[in-house]
Amino acid sequence: MRSFRLNSWACVWLAVLLPGLAWAQAPSWDLTPVADGVYAAIGRNGAFGNCAVVVNRDDVLVVDSSMRPSWARELIRQIKKVTDKPVRYVVNTHWHPDHTQGNQAFLEAYGPQVEFIAQRYTDEDITGKELQYIQQTVTDLPGQIAKMEASLASGKAADGTALTDQARAALESQAADQKAYLAELQQTHIPARTLTFESSLSIQKPGGRVIEILNFGKGHTRGDAVVFLPAERVVVTGDLLTTGVPFFRDSYPSHWVEVLESVRKLDWTTAIPGHGDVLQGKGQIEKLIAFMNDLQGQVKAAVAQGKSLEETKKAVELSKRLADFPVYKTPEAYQRAVNVAIERTWMEASGKITE
Ligand SMILES: [Zn+2]
Repeated sequence: MRSFRLNSWACVWLAVLLPGLAWAQAPSWDLTPVADGVYAAIGRNGAFGNCAVVVNRDDVLVVDSSMRPSWARELIRQIKKVTDKPVRYVVNTHWHPDHTQGNQAFLEAYGPQVEFIAQRYTDEDITGKELQYIQQTVTDLPGQIAKMEASLASGKAADGTALTDQARAALESQAADQKAYLAELQQTHIPARTLTFESSLSIQKPGGRVIEILNFGKGHTRGDAVVFLPAERVVVTGDLLTTGVPFFRDSYPSHWVEVLESVRKLDWTTAIPGHGDVLQGKGQIEKLIAFMNDLQGQVKAAVAQGKSLEETKKAVELSKRLADFPVYKTPEAYQRAVNVAIERTWMEASGKITE
């Protein structure tokens, strides 16, 4: 049985953004118009996992549903501020919890007419890996929360040093947040997909809206969907493209860079990435492609020299590319993401990825 690092999505992304969890306001979404009837939904106050909203003449298509049903319900509240049309399509770009766990909110709000759309492998992985993640997290999270509470009670961090006031406040906030997450996760289910596709699916709506849903092969996961609006020249990338170094754990690095080339070649001017702010132009995707090519080259050279993973991590030098990912608050946060990237790339180059 495969084990999951608990809440790794939350950890990886929040480590980018924040030294501790402390929000004065409830999680919410900014709906930013990027084209006529097309919005990027960027999480605020703790909500994360970007979504996109496409308002058609008669209905609405949503891309991804974030990590919690409560966050998705808040997104629905925001959608209702810009349109009275019902959501009829939810596309999941991949199976990761921070893109799928809000799905049920759309079924609850709009009923069984909602089409849940995913690439064939993502359909399989939601049923397999994602449901396993939920079960594992529901099992493991109480212990993690107990550790946080023990630390608060003793006034000491895990390493025995005294908690500063700032650390205590962050830990209190984190414990409360994780309790709320656990309570929600115990009620979370992912509705079955009603529509799956292999390499492409085209939705053509009255009023001239064309929505292309595309898979270019294995990348961030084995079943990524890219949502492309050719007339509006907008692309929604999921975690194939983020403003930081994307999460590599379930990826196929050498294929991913080819997928990014395919995405780059589409005719778009605006990208809604899986995490981070809306991107204008192709500068960031080009920086990520350059990062990945550099990573591939260095890791393959290390593997060719017979280097172990630990030796490879020491040998690969990507610090000069930190400037290409200004989302990171510290070099350490960048290096943590890079280490995951090196690990997965080393596994692939060593023939250790079997699925
Ligand atoms: Zn992801």
